[in-house]
Amino acid sequence: MYLKTIQLRQFRNYQEQRVDFSAPKTILVGNNAQGKSNLLEAVELLATLRSHRNSRDRDLIKESELVGQITATVERQNGVSDLSITLRRNGRRSVALNSETLRRQLDFLGVLNAVEFSSLDLDLVRGGPEQRRHWLDTLLIQLEPIYAYILQQYNQVLRQRNAFLKRNLESASKNEAQELALWNVQLATTGSRVARRRSRAVERLAPIAQAWHSSISGSTEILEMKYAPNVPLEQNEPEQVQQAFLAKLETREVAEQHQGTTLVGPHRDEIELTINQTPARSYGSQGQQRTLVLALKLAELKLIEEVVGEAPLLLLDDVLAELDLNRQNQLLDAIQDRFQTLITTTHLGSFDSQWLKSSQILSVQAGR
Ligand code: ATP
Ligand code: MG
Repeated sequence: MYLKTIQLRQFRNYQEQRVDFSAPKTILVGNNAQGKSNLLEAVELLATLRSHRNSRDRDLIKESELVGQITATVERQNGVSDLSITLRRNGRRSVALNSETLRRQLDFLGVLNAVEFSSLDLDLVRGGPEQRRHWLDTLLIQLEPIYAYILQQYNQVLRQRNAFLKRNLESASKNEAQELALWNVQLATTGSRVARRRSRAVERLAPIAQAWHSSISGSTEILEMKYAPNVPLEQNEPEQVQQAFLAKLETREVAEQHQGTTLVGPHRDEIELTINQTPARSYGSQGQQRTLVLALKLAELKLIEEVVGEAPLLLLDDVLAELDLNRQNQLLDAIQDRFQTLITTTHLGSFDSQWLKSSQILSVQAGR
């Protein structure tokens, strides 16, 4: 797939700007705070309707404006599509495909795919489990857009069940026990859908990441990646997983009522990353952790390509200069010209001349 053009209107620090991409690699160069990452963020929104920085829509819209807009033209094997996202201060987004406003945001997903790699991604190794879950969820949305809906359903049930538990702290009349039983079934149904999909995605991702990791690090270190659910998933039949879920809920009932919050479910799962059986978090130098994240990102890229059947975009936010020449070259070899790549940097000096020769170079200054 190829992002041909993007147009930003009242988005972040952009008033009105169109960008035409004329090469498989585009380098956005400029000083700090000029709008390089903002442009990448717009591409990320087109691909996932999510932002890395987890911003509210009111922060995405240009200061003192009411509405912001991102539009783009994407070329794929089966034709050309126009995408558009309109952001409003009250948080009500609308999305359109080929100028037709879509009723379900779900139908917007899957037209453009992109993998972002920024320094924030080091949190994949160093941060808490919620960061890894968020990363995996964003990947799943791209592999299978229906997942956005599945996750949303789970989160909604979880919120409502939590509210119920809070209202009924320590008490349980007969009616309430019945209501809780209903919530339990919904939580188990939606929760096992989420957990099973996540677990399957990790299973596919793990060997690809492992291969990249050993190739980039040039060592015999073994990267392992496992989905660690808090409800066992070995029984792969959905009904069995739901039963296991309900059984686990029963064992935590007293604790849940005491704490007024849901203690069982994929919102508490972990994605374990180990190198030679040592948790990656407590392992290695910054450079080694960056290598690990690079391997994860390349694995993501390959898996999306495999599942979707077309190469996604790669968005490299300020990370290239942080890689040594050997890793830069590995990355260059991996993407060749097969993945359209947008790269931000504050200076061109650290780039291999090969990169510079084969790239479109755009300078970014004060939102232009
Ligand atoms: P760096 O090299 O530091 O990463 P950058 O070029 O990537 O810089 P961006 O993060 O793209 O910088 O842009 C940051 C600029 O955008 C800041 O000056 C910030 O104040 C501005 N900005 C962010 N959101 C808005 C908004 N809603 N309205 C106006 N300006 C905004
Ligand atoms: Mg930036």
